[in-house]
Amino acid sequence: MKFRLVELLQCVRCQGPLDVAADKSSLRAISSGESFSCRQYCGRHHTTVMPSSADCADCNKTDIESGFLKCRACGHTYRIVDSIPWLVDEALEQSDRRLSGTVALYSHLWTDFAPAALSGKTHLDEVEGTLGESVVQGRIGLDAGSGSGEDTLAMASRHPCTEIVSLDISKGVYEIRRRTAELPNVHVVRASVLSIPLKPNLCDFVYSFGVLHHTTNPKRGLQEIVRVLKAGGPTFLYLYEDHEDNPWKAFPLKLVTALRQVTTRMNPKLLSAACYVLSPFVVLVFSLPAKLLGKFRWT
Ligand SMILES: [Zn+2]
Ligand SMILES: [Zn+2]
Repeated sequence: MKFRLVELLQCVRCQGPLDVAADKSSLRAISSGESFSCRQYCGRHHTTVMPSSADCADCNKTDIESGFLKCRACGHTYRIVDSIPWLVDEALEQSDRRLSGTVALYSHLWTDFAPAALSGKTHLDEVEGTLGESVVQGRIGLDAGSGSGEDTLAMASRHPCTEIVSLDISKGVYEIRRRTAELPNVHVVRASVLSIPLKPNLCDFVYSFGVLHHTTNPKRGLQEIVRVLKAGGPTFLYLYEDHEDNPWKAFPLKLVTALRQVTTRMNPKLLSAACYVLSPFVVLVFSLPAKLLGKFRWT
């Protein structure tokens, strides 16, 4: 993480401000990034009295590879692991089986099944094509639940003047970091969308594709998104539909939801193997008929 990120963050336990504690040996210079410097608090100089822009020139050009972020209010420390701050409650992650299962499943998914490169249309393209407007606007945006970072990469590379905070609870964050390593306007954070470690009224937009319905508390996630969004700023959410008005779709969806009670408790590698075995059945029974029937117009 870069020093520039510090002023955007806050403690997920008490909302207090954070300070970096890192050895000089864990700092590494990055070749570009001077166009983004600290604004109201400098995490490198630990001051709200802003140093000259020359003093802050390196704040977005220095990668903190390891160390800690310490809350000035409650004293809690968060680890910086391989350049990514883990702004999560690690004790809760280990004790809560449901949460640890979610982290394990998506870590497996986004590291072992991450799309190899930007190929074809991204989810971002689909959203922008449907709405007819750009998702990215303003100076700072949040990709909440960014998976393996395909959309973060698209947003940041197409809008180099906007800083993108890319947040995910899974180890997919390391795939995001690998993909966006050359982009000075990306900050990768490992955290939950249910406890977003960003200051309130920070983001000019929030984008979250297919995330909230996978959490244990979608309403809380929405409240968090609203909290970090500037007043009047847009949020772009993609959520599953419940199809309650269409029993032909609602019933299979209920079956799938019931099945997920089992699959979400399975070992991720065992689940992957089961998916490979079952995928021909799913294609034959669901995908192909849906494609064929989609060609007819029902009246
Ligand atoms: Zn600074
Ligand atoms: Zn705190």
